[in-house]
Amino acid sequence: MKVRTRFAPSPTGRMHLGNLWIAFLNWLWTRQQGGTIILRMEDIDKDRCHPSYAKGILEDLAWMGLDYDEGPEGTYAYGSTVQSRRYDIYGKILSEMEKKGHIYPCYCSRSRIHQVLSAPHEGENRPVYDGHCRNLSAEERKAMTKPPCWRVAMEEGNTTFSDLFFGNVTRHLKKGADDFVIRRADGLVAYQLAVSIDDGAMGVTHVFRGNDLLDSTPYQVFLMEKLGYQPPVYGHLPLLTDKKGIRLSKRQRGITIEELRNRGYSPEDLMGLLLHLAGGFPDMRPVTRKEAVENFPFEKLKNLKQKHIVLPVS
Ligand code: GLU
Ligand code: ZN
Repeated sequence: MKVRTRFAPSPTGRMHLGNLWIAFLNWLWTRQQGGTIILRMEDIDKDRCHPSYAKGILEDLAWMGLDYDEGPEGTYAYGSTVQSRRYDIYGKILSEMEKKGHIYPCYCSRSRIHQVLSAPHEGENRPVYDGHCRNLSAEERKAMTKPPCWRVAMEEGNTTFSDLFFGNVTRHLKKGADDFVIRRADGLVAYQLAVSIDDGAMGVTHVFRGNDLLDSTPYQVFLMEKLGYQPPVYGHLPLLTDKKGIRLSKRQRGITIEELRNRGYSPEDLMGLLLHLAGGFPDMRPVTRKEAVENFPFEKLKNLKQKHIVLPVS
């Protein structure tokens, strides 16, 4: 099987070391396998995304030498790799799901509906739904005056996926409580839908991302199976944190790739640092891309099973 992976940043800020960690390990693993890398811009959250950040991400990746094979500048059999240009695809699939009764409208107040456009990273608020609107009658639905959001009519049962570091992971999904939102009342599609369709349609075989998205994976696997896609194998990576154990975020200043570059770090310095943190090279020294691809012992790494890895610099 030919390996296909994706790096899927949301252009909501400049890249920081935490983003680079994922992008770099994805790049390295894929290049070692001789696979194809897709750069997908996850820019459906219009309020938080900005084209200047998308440009910044491309600049940072180019400076690091992390190349990709399919990206925002191209058009492929599956369309664009930019999510904001894939709305017609999402819309078609949503209406098919509606016809089949796989989704239903929910009229609950905004306060009951959490943020759904962006990936729900762990630690963010994710209230449990009570399944209230699932059983509304046709008349009750007709009587509603405001536009609904749409939820997946979850089927109760176990979902299993395979992870390169954790092996097989099984989660029990509940009818009602796990009826997650896949379309907002204003028509914007949720992260969960876009990412599932895209990973499926783009033929992604392996997904590397932070382990703070582990709770979303069963939903995405459920959706992909429902839509007839083959779910990928996952590689949920530990998050980089500061010394206090706090996840690196775009709000933190001084840790962006741009900033590190201005401070005089070279791409090789950053790669050496990340590979040392990953546990592959015992000492921290500059490493070239070539050396990393040829010698980095990806499969042997124990560090990658950790929940967090503390960054030694600030
Ligand atoms: N775009 C998401 C984020 O940056 C990542 C989605 C994913 O890797 O599945 O948070
Ligand atoms: Zn509801």
